[in-house]
Amino acid sequence: MTSKVQSLIDTLCETHSLSEEQYAQILRGRTQEAQDCLTQRAAQVRSKVYGNGIFIRGLIEISSFCKNDCLYCGLRRSNGRAERYRLSPEEIAECCKTGYELGFRTFVLQGGEDSWFTDERVARIVSDIKQMLPDCAVTLSLGEKSRETYQLWFDAGADRYLLRHETADAQHYARLHPSELSLENRLRCLSDLRDIGYQTGCGFMVGSPFQTPECLAKDLCFIEKFRPHMVGIGPFIPHKDTPFAQYPAGSAQLTVYLMSILRLMLPEVLLPATTALNSIDPYGREQGILAGGNVLMPNLSPEDVRKKYLLYNGKKSTGAESAQSLDALRGQMRRIGFELVVDRGDSKLK
Ligand code: SAM
Repeated sequence: MTSKVQSLIDTLCETHSLSEEQYAQILRGRTQEAQDCLTQRAAQVRSKVYGNGIFIRGLIEISSFCKNDCLYCGLRRSNGRAERYRLSPEEIAECCKTGYELGFRTFVLQGGEDSWFTDERVARIVSDIKQMLPDCAVTLSLGEKSRETYQLWFDAGADRYLLRHETADAQHYARLHPSELSLENRLRCLSDLRDIGYQTGCGFMVGSPFQTPECLAKDLCFIEKFRPHMVGIGPFIPHKDTPFAQYPAGSAQLTVYLMSILRLMLPEVLLPATTALNSIDPYGREQGILAGGNVLMPNLSPEDVRKKYLLYNGKKSTGAESAQSLDALRGQMRRIGFELVVDRGDSKLK
């Protein structure tokens, strides 16, 4: 590792802030030694803020219908080969009940932008879950909506919202999305969500087509300024029935490197080791946690729909539908020194 990179890591630890050019330099100067140093520093910070507890979120993939046509995503509307399904409100409630008995205290309802899930239906689903399980947090990840819709869902009891910004570079954004989608609107959504009072999460894919270290440096600067409560990052993985089928997948090592940078930038951030990271590397989950992650999102969707929610090929979904599979995850974490905790796992960010 060059002394320049070493001194940038020191500065990041001390000030939690770097310039765009400095982030780009840390990224361009990635070596094994730099990675080891970042991992070690990030692990120290995570352990100081969150100890060795890992928060678990029960992920419920409520619909594979989507009106959008993002070029990277297997759920895109032009993918005529995608298998479409949607869960009924009763099925969603059932997933939460099962999850609660297993020890989950947060449920993440994620899906494509599916018009069957009207604003009122979603509000009703959220308030029913909150009434049934008042000590649980509900996270929504249902895409871009108006401020009024976000407010309605917040008033119904939703606590958190995940909306990856995907890339903070407008030109890059335009190469990943059809012209009706814009970075401007994505960022408007994020700022509305924060303003309304949601614990808000943004994030991006690592290694998406046309991404450069400069794009990633912009992502890091955006996140530093926005100060989200949660950040979700995972490698891009191609899906065979999308225009990006022939592009290579992103790197697990770079993803983990970025996770450590994020932990040093925002010590209190909730940072999952994502499904995509675990899908691309058999030890992705462990590496992500060791490098500063503190959240896992096992899949609580009914088994028969899990393979239909296919954003990319080769998805691994850790089911948590049974105490045995959650025990296996618990054992995997214990082997590297961590404990799954029964907790809502709220952000400590002020
Ligand atoms: N519709 C909601 C939204 O737009 O935020 C939530 C669902 S969307 C499928 C969830 C995330 O999956 C996206 O934000 C994107 O970063 C990620 N994703 C989609 N296609 C992917 C791919 N091919 N590889 C890795 N991640 C992907």
